[in-house]
Amino acid sequence: MQRIGVLGGMMDPVHLGHLHAAKCALDAGVDRVLLAPCLHPAHREKPAASAEQRMEMCRLAAQIDPRIEVSDIDLREGTCYAADTVRLLQQRHPGDGICWILGADKLPGLAQWHKAEELFSRCEFLVCPRPGYDAHLPVHGARITVLEGAETAVSSSAVIRELRGLSDAEDLLPRSVARYIAENGLYQPDWEQTLRKYGMKDKRLRHTLGVRQTAVELAWLHGERMQAAATAAMLHDIAKPLPLKDMLKLVKRYRLKLPEELLTGENLLHGPLAAAIAERELGVTDGAVLSAIACHTTGKAGMTRLDKVIFLADAIEPNRADYPGLAEMRQLAKTDLDAAVLLSMRRTQEYVLARGLRLCGQTEQAIQDLIKQKEEQS
Ligand code: FE
Ligand code: FE
Repeated sequence: MQRIGVLGGMMDPVHLGHLHAAKCALDAGVDRVLLAPCLHPAHREKPAASAEQRMEMCRLAAQIDPRIEVSDIDLREGTCYAADTVRLLQQRHPGDGICWILGADKLPGLAQWHKAEELFSRCEFLVCPRPGYDAHLPVHGARITVLEGAETAVSSSAVIRELRGLSDAEDLLPRSVARYIAENGLYQPDWEQTLRKYGMKDKRLRHTLGVRQTAVELAWLHGERMQAAATAAMLHDIAKPLPLKDMLKLVKRYRLKLPEELLTGENLLHGPLAAAIAERELGVTDGAVLSAIACHTTGKAGMTRLDKVIFLADAIEPNRADYPGLAEMRQLAKTDLDAAVLLSMRRTQEYVLARGLRLCGQTEQAIQDLIKQKEEQS
């Protein structure tokens, strides 16, 4: 006979508090713990992430310990009562014992749970202490063990607050889950809808989503903030649908002080303009994100890691049609951001010079700066 722990709830998103409770249950002699996100619990607001997304985040979180698994048992229509969940689990795992893991904040109402008597006869309860609640509160008829040490201050709302501030919530979330959230734009404003409002069509939206995917991957690989990379990626081309004359109007309205050479065409101007729109019209306040958006068309001297991530993601995202150097750039981006950025800028330089044009001064400065840094390092 095995003892199976069940951790239910919205898991919107699953976080280190859940994993800590699962580990404490394992330490207390439970053989396996099932993370069982529910479809839509009664009397609760609709979850921000879909059931499939919450399941996927649980799968990623569960990778830290083979004894932690993910179950779809609570993804059934209608209200998921614990009594039904436990009965279904007993059918799936005949002969095993079921342990319901819950927070001490649930104890005062436990006797009023649906079919409480049946539930109490079918399972035991493992209680995680919660600040302000008595974990040892006796509940008539229920077999209760307190998981000492399972107390955590982590909550999904605290996680979401951090994510909204464009942090990856390292202390609250497994990094793999933070990556999934960034890749899918969860818990952030609906930027896709915003982009459509600004006139972006399907093809550029596909490019934008490709940039987000690549930017998050590069941020993951190089230790950069993934939520920041995702936001910068989503907004980097927001000004691109505008014709030059409208761009110039906005430059005036926002009193942007830009070098003359940027004002001559959409190709360079849409970067700094997108940053202005993000800041003034969309309420983006993160300076690093605004910088990365602004310099994605030209680069600049003293580029930050996030600047480089966005610059490259734009150049190498998976929907890009093949061009000379692309494969090499994609390879290089994974290991050496500076070298990949330099390669990309050199390609642009060759392209521009071959057409008898002048390379943008900011790009020239970026190239000089990267070369200088490389020399200093070696
Ligand atoms: Fe662009
Ligand atoms: Fe782009």
